Amino acid sequence: MDQENQYLEDKMKYSVDKKGYYGQFGGAYIPEMLYPNIEELRENYLQIVEEPGFQSQFRKLLKDYVGRPTPLFLAERLSETYGARIYLKREDLCHTGAHKINNTIGQIILAKKLGKQRIIAETGAGQHGVATATVCALVGMECIVYMGSVDMERQKPNVERMRILGAQVVPATSGSQTLKDATNEAMRHWINNPTDTHYIIGSVVGPHPYPDMVARFQSVISEEIKLQLKEATGEEYPGYVLACVGGGSNAAGAFYHFLDHEAVKLVAVEAAGRGVDSGESAATTVLGRPGVLHGSKTLLMQTTDGQVVEPYSISAGLDYPGIGPIHAHLFDTGRVSFLNATDEEAMNAGIELSRLEGIIPAIESAHAFVALQKLGLSPNDVVVINLSGRGDKDLETYIKWGKY
Ligand SMILES: *Cc1c(COP(=O)(O)O)cnc(C)c1O
Repeated sequence: MDQENQYLEDKMKYSVDKKGYYGQFGGAYIPEMLYPNIEELRENYLQIVEEPGFQSQFRKLLKDYVGRPTPLFLAERLSETYGARIYLKREDLCHTGAHKINNTIGQIILAKKLGKQRIIAETGAGQHGVATATVCALVGMECIVYMGSVDMERQKPNVERMRILGAQVVPATSGSQTLKDATNEAMRHWINNPTDTHYIIGSVVGPHPYPDMVARFQSVISEEIKLQLKEATGEEYPGYVLACVGGGSNAAGAFYHFLDHEAVKLVAVEAAGRGVDSGESAATTVLGRPGVLHGSKTLLMQTTDGQVVEPYSISAGLDYPGIGPIHAHLFDTGRVSFLNATDEEAMNAGIELSRLEGIIPAIESAHAFVALQKLGLSPNDVVVINLSGRGDKDLETYIKWGKY
């Protein structure tokens, strides 16, 4: 192979191929009835998101509405505690309190360009539902959010937030009445309304082209980190980038522009729940095997006969039985190191960050901070942690935890 081809091959190693695969993972495993919807997206998404008109609208809303660029903050007391230079990427300061809005802004503009009039989404804990309802209000589009009826009971404030924003929240009453069932109902709705409806998926999961599309929208995170780090240290590449992984969108965004720079160590932290061997966990790379979930081939927690295992984590956003196909590939190739953190470790890390830096993190994000104890850092190491969201939504969980 000549040098240029080798270079191109290296560059493509971690991005999606034409058929929608990352190595052996990805693809679009969907019912035939959904083909037209997915085809329409697949044929148009790249061209639309690369148009100057799309980019200027996207960038303007990220700046004036979301509040980007989010700061890169040198956490001095945390740095002192762990003996490294630790920077926090402050996605917790985004409008609505987490990174999820970067993606919903991108997808709502895309939906408009495709001439759609209505948005559907599914949500587990309600965070993605709120981010979707928010952008629908912003552009004046009808919004229907499917949510398991058990989840609606558990996450009442988010249900009311969505309703205040003008969204219709539809309970999914089949099966375990949680995220999986809400996803099925949303899919059914989409099959029945293919021409006027866009389905906004909230993480780097689902059939191709969703994982790639969501990763591109979230990649603004690592784009900013490079610029900000260069300004702060004179060097755009850190030693480490750390992020928590539920489906994997904040991690994909934080890793994106570092994937081809192998000197940057990328670390993903999954939720171990009550421990990886406890039967109550969401550590997919430890417990999962290849399978098909939500329309793509990925690593998935399943029984020997292929039934999806109910995951568990104290943080609702990490309580997912799979990971996005890009992460299954990054795990497979060893490009990203996967660690995990128990409920207890994450809660302690969340309280430690509150005390050391005056920042109460989302419990999802707190998982990423547990990695600091496990990496064997030295004083010259520059570490960036993606602080994916703020802890306001988790106050009740902190209070119940009580050990502070
Ligand atoms: C939803 C959520 C996550 C998990 O989703 P990813 O797609 O893995 O990023 C992490 N942190 C926060 C604050 C969230 O709201």
